[in-house]
Amino acid sequence: MMQPEVIPFSDAPRIVIWEMTRACALACRHCRAEAIPFRNPDELTTSEAFALVDSIAECRPLFILTGGDPLMRGDVFKIVEYATNKGLRVAVSPSATGRLTPAALAKLSRAGCKSISLSLDGPTAEMHDSFRGVRGSFQRTLDAARSAREMGLLTQINTTVSRFNNDRLFSIASLIEPLGIASWTLFFLVPVGRAQLEDVLSAQETEEAFRRLYEIAQTVPFAVKTTEAPHYRRFLAQHEGTPAAQLPAGIGDGKGFMFVSHTGDVYPSGFLPYTAGNVREISPLALYRENPVFRKLREPSEFSGKCGLCEFAQLCGGSRARAYAMNKSMFASDPTCAYTPEVLRTAAYA
Ligand code: SF4
Repeated sequence: MMQPEVIPFSDAPRIVIWEMTRACALACRHCRAEAIPFRNPDELTTSEAFALVDSIAECRPLFILTGGDPLMRGDVFKIVEYATNKGLRVAVSPSATGRLTPAALAKLSRAGCKSISLSLDGPTAEMHDSFRGVRGSFQRTLDAARSAREMGLLTQINTTVSRFNNDRLFSIASLIEPLGIASWTLFFLVPVGRAQLEDVLSAQETEEAFRRLYEIAQTVPFAVKTTEAPHYRRFLAQHEGTPAAQLPAGIGDGKGFMFVSHTGDVYPSGFLPYTAGNVREISPLALYRENPVFRKLREPSEFSGKCGLCEFAQLCGGSRARAYAMNKSMFASDPTCAYTPEVLRTAAYA
């Protein structure tokens, strides 16, 4: 069987996330977008959204529509359909509000949406709803996951991991296991937007969370993944005994990944406040390929501190967004990694 061609990270993003709007009826404690109830009149229009799709279609990335709440835009169904017809795999990340009805999910599915992601940050209504700032969000999330399953939509559950819920990962896994989801993605907090520095896990707490996830992943029927925690890939490689030299390069901020804001600004990540340019003025693929910051983010040898010296740097590279938020440089080390690269251990004992 012919293997599909693998496009190098330098040529094309594998994932493009577009923040369609910052409008959202929830008020989550950690919200990256500091979402507000109303839409910004300067959001990309429907025709500008179509142009964005046209400009990335040649790379066939996974196109994720996020917010805010994508369902705050009435044209979301049209945009899903347009992108699907252009050959993109489209995923939508709706907020669990009254707009997220079975009818809305069915309409997304008919438009061509292949998967949805839903957020769940605690194993009880009390815990989740206090995190999301709106009562009823927990039950709506579970109801939406069940409806999505009945319609054949793949579902991903997203959990933001912080000091608020780090000790509840096993209970969250037990809660979501009967939902028939495809994957559980753990987003490790980056202190931007409403997220607070004191809620970020330390390096030791992060390693402990990785141990829990690894244990959970051995028993559950869905994939367990991380966002803004590429060092979980290092943890897995260590536990599976794969030599660092045999490891593939992994996706990271600006490396296989691009974020487009509601007004068209292009970033290496939604959590990294560096704008390369705006899709209204320049092709996002040109920015992704040629912008010097994007290029440097794809070269771990350019990083300072231990991430620049680490034998796992191509696979991992640390969260560039967290390095920026906590160490004031997107090329510094990720302060939530407990690993000491081999070269530093060897030097310490030389
Ligand atoms: S030191 Fe940096 S590159 Fe190495 S595993 Fe930790 S975060 Fe990843």
